[in-house]
Amino acid sequence: MVLEGKVALVTGSTSGIGLAIARALAAEGAKVMINGFGEAADIERECQELGAVHDRADMSEPAEIERMMKRCAEEFGGPDILVNNAGIQHVSPVDEFPPEKWDAIVAINLSSAFHTTRLAVPGMKQKQWGRIINTASAHSLVASPNKSAYVAAKHGIAGFTKTVALETARDGITVNCISPGYVWTTLVEKQIPDTMKARGLTREQVMNDVLLAAQPTKRFVTPEEVAALAVFLCRDEAKSITGANLSMDGGWTAA
Ligand code: NAD
Repeated sequence: MVLEGKVALVTGSTSGIGLAIARALAAEGAKVMINGFGEAADIERECQELGAVHDRADMSEPAEIERMMKRCAEEFGGPDILVNNAGIQHVSPVDEFPPEKWDAIVAINLSSAFHTTRLAVPGMKQKQWGRIINTASAHSLVASPNKSAYVAAKHGIAGFTKTVALETARDGITVNCISPGYVWTTLVEKQIPDTMKARGLTREQVMNDVLLAAQPTKRFVTPEEVAALAVFLCRDEAKSITGANLSMDGGWTAA
């Protein structure tokens, strides 16, 4: 268990990729603080399974994030591993894009990582050890129509990752993003009806001709594959990987 004694905070870890990352970090011995929304009973079960604690901070609220970070510091000595993963999506053309959806996506998918990172870095500097892993996306490198806010936020997180990596390079801290292609999670499932509507397609057409059209492997990435890379980034052997945007997209961005 390579992460014994480490504290990991994973935002948006009540489902999908974040849940898989929380499980994988806990399996390596990390004390995990999970975050995100969901049914109380499911969250309770997850906490018991992982020996984790849950914080309900809404990642669109800077004051809530500050409270969660303070709690993590006071109860566990602060995160040694910070995974900025919480994210939402909305699919519609830019001229019909609801401004409140734009604001929510930028707040949750981009600004929340600033608010956690700025509060996590001092403790990591003190320990001269830290790992910050941001779940970006293939959309941090390329665009798709009807996803203006998501693509803007993901390009933003890629730039933020590089900047913080440079600022912390001499402090034993690495800062990277993982950029998955399509991973089969509720986030993807939920955008199918809107994409059907926006493009006038059937469910099967959206899955095969829109989602997997971009992915040369023609299969969805699994949350567990992403989690395994996150664990690797926490290992000592990964200490020279910083400022990287690591694609896991079945060849999508190679095209
Ligand atoms: P998901 O919907 O399964 O999980 C999202 C998580 O974020 C949940 O735990 C949810 O409760 C939490 N969350 C949402 N809004 C929140 C808020 N305001 N405050 C706190 N938590 C909040 O989605 P996922 O596919 O696992 O997505 C996780 C991350 O991976 C996102 O950043 C997403 O952009 C990114 N990503 C997903 C895919 C994909 O194909 N699924 C591809 C690339 C990147």
